[in-house]
Amino acid sequence: MKYILLLAVGILFFSGCSHGQEPDAGVGVGTVEEVTLDADLGASREGSRTDAEAVLREEEAISPDELSVAQQREIRERAQNYTFQTEVNRMMKLIINSLYRNKEIFLRELISNASDALDKIRLLSLTDRSVLESNSELSIRIKAEPEKRLLHIIDTGIGMTKNDLINNLGTIAKSGTADFLSKMQDTEKESSQEMNDMIGQFGVGFYSAFLVAERVTVVSKHNDDRQHVWTSDASSFSVAEDPRGDTLQRGTHLTLHLKEEAADYLQADTIRSLVKKYSQFINFPIYLWASRTETVDVEEPVDPAAPADDDEDAQVEDATEEKEVKKTEKTVWDWELMNDNKPIWTRKPSEVSSDEYDQFYKSLTKDTATPLAKAHFVAEGEVTFRALLFVPRVQPADSFNRYGAKTDHIKLYVRRVFITDEFNDLVPNYLAFLQGIVDSDDLPLNVSRETLQQHKLVKIIKKKLIRKALDMLKKIPADEYQHFWKEYSTNVKLGVIEDPSNRSRLAKLLRFHSSAAPDMTFLEEYVTRMKPSQKHIYYIAGASRAEVERSPFAERLVRRGYEVLYLTEAVDEYCLSSLPEFDGFKFQNIAKEIFDLEEGEEQKERFEAERARFEPLTKWLGEKLGAHITRAVVSRRLAKAPAALAATAFGWTGNMERLAMSNAHQKSDDAQRKHHLGQKKMLEINPRHPVLRELLRRVVEDPDDRLALDTARTLLRTAALRSGYMLQEGQSIEFADTVDSMLQRALGLPPDAQPEDEPETEAEAESADAAEGDAEDHDEL
Ligand code: ADP
Repeated sequence: MKYILLLAVGILFFSGCSHGQEPDAGVGVGTVEEVTLDADLGASREGSRTDAEAVLREEEAISPDELSVAQQREIRERAQNYTFQTEVNRMMKLIINSLYRNKEIFLRELISNASDALDKIRLLSLTDRSVLESNSELSIRIKAEPEKRLLHIIDTGIGMTKNDLINNLGTIAKSGTADFLSKMQDTEKESSQEMNDMIGQFGVGFYSAFLVAERVTVVSKHNDDRQHVWTSDASSFSVAEDPRGDTLQRGTHLTLHLKEEAADYLQADTIRSLVKKYSQFINFPIYLWASRTETVDVEEPVDPAAPADDDEDAQVEDATEEKEVKKTEKTVWDWELMNDNKPIWTRKPSEVSSDEYDQFYKSLTKDTATPLAKAHFVAEGEVTFRALLFVPRVQPADSFNRYGAKTDHIKLYVRRVFITDEFNDLVPNYLAFLQGIVDSDDLPLNVSRETLQQHKLVKIIKKKLIRKALDMLKKIPADEYQHFWKEYSTNVKLGVIEDPSNRSRLAKLLRFHSSAAPDMTFLEEYVTRMKPSQKHIYYIAGASRAEVERSPFAERLVRRGYEVLYLTEAVDEYCLSSLPEFDGFKFQNIAKEIFDLEEGEEQKERFEAERARFEPLTKWLGEKLGAHITRAVVSRRLAKAPAALAATAFGWTGNMERLAMSNAHQKSDDAQRKHHLGQKKMLEINPRHPVLRELLRRVVEDPDDRLALDTARTLLRTAALRSGYMLQEGQSIEFADTVDSMLQRALGLPPDAQPEDEPETEAEAESADAAEGDAEDHDEL
């Protein structure tokens, strides 16, 4: 009984304690004050002076395992035993048996849970202040007891009811856990480094306690329930009401019974460095129960037996007081604040070092690499908000999977209070890879998340956030941009397609291969290289640079010094066809029909003359191939190739057709697809090519020339292939037959020479008979 009383006093003391911190320096707690949640918090800090007695009580109070024998028996009797969910068992096995080396992350995970629990109660308190009546402090405390090999982590967060304890610490609700587990099992065989990264990034949460502990006890008090004790040795767990009563007031007290090899985590220095490494940006104060040595003045009575001082006068003076002041060292135990819980984004960018940003990013994302780019800014105007945005070096694996589910990686705060990280609309899909936080003073605090989501200010925030994010991307230095582009080019291109209001900003981020540069080029760079008379930005799309470089459409343009962009990614052609212009210049897909190559008078005259000369052939081709082409024309742009097929202005190029055909989602009877695939193209012929000149000669001489017709048909197909189109059903066989017979002719063989019939061998004839016999037998059955 005496003990319990002592315990209660200790806890009371403990909950009001904030040593090592001046009232105004308590920034995290100050945060609470800013939203006027805790008017009396300062008062509760008074009376927190350390005195030996209080320290002693507190030390006792903080050990929930220090249960009397009777209490322990009571817990055992009351306890209900539970088995873990299968996934948890699998996870535990991985955790306990794995070679996972980076065990230290357990502290990060447990502190992060504590911080989440604190966020939850703070959020609730916005609409119902009374939830904090049970305990007004919001903090995390860590205490090690090396002699007993115990590590305590205590938070004054929302706590867990009995049911919460059973459900939250017995199952895994996290999405993707099953995937994670099976991946882990595969990886285990391959590389433990990869596994390290995976555990680190997935975050095994609470269960990571078992990386270092053989037994874990969780005492938790939720406002809606009595205090309960959860305990487990990793194989099963039990839950019982706490015989000591509601000593925690509110929150959760975790006790890890550390394995022998994990004893290092009981050292204050180790704990400090782990908190610095992983948890320094937690927005609640994290205290460590630690000792420090202080030099104090102690008045001691003068020893009369001491040898006489040389200075007799002084001795006389001292003797009258009979006391002397001595300096002596004393060990003081106190709660030491380990983090600067002033949110980093509320600081001035000029006062935050790049290392601090990197560390913050790592603790926010669990990424082990530093970010590729960052932006830290205050936006003012209709709405004021601060934001800190990061571009991860590697696209988060879920950015695209989430396209359907739509979730971003931006945490929303209102006046430093964490509101949600499940706001799915702060950035558009194509920027879903961004990591960061947004904190606004102007949003209402006491409304539901749903209401907030509809708030008009949120729309304004989103608009500004996109602009700032795009500015950030534009500022990525050239050497890093290569990396950015490799990782995020598809995002930018989808942005051009999906976000008309930011199209021109996004266009500045685009990069393509080009005929003028071995590397990729920005559109801005293209424009600076344009010929003075050039009116269009030329581009061609295909499967690879090698393919489009040899495209018949590009050859003469390039030869005449025009730059052509080579679009080689699936999304490129869609992207540029949704971009009306860049810097005042329209785009021209050179695989399409409308094509006014800038030419001088002399060239135009020459072209007109050739057009007239070839008119009999173009007319003849139009008639003979009319089922496949809209018309045949003399080309201005072909140099080496005899002919090419060009799409109409709104038709599909060969590249688009190829993409549409390979699109798994495209139904084969899709009306639009049928319409496009069935569309005729225009045949362009090269008037300088010998084959075309010969064709013209033959057609003028005899419009029914058999060979001319065969040649024209084949020419149509080679033109289709060269222009990136696939041959339509049935045409490829016909085409192959034609080429084969041409080969025969070229070899001087009769074009209709047939392969000889293969004489059947006797054995084959017999087995064929036997097979027939079998089939008959079966039929009879
Ligand atoms: P996660 O935190 O990713 O949800 P965990 O396994 O770490 O997964 O924790 C499971 C759940 O247990 C949490 O979602 C939370 O509801 C609860 N929990 C864990 N630690 C605490 C705590 N210190 N206070 C209150 N609830 C907690």
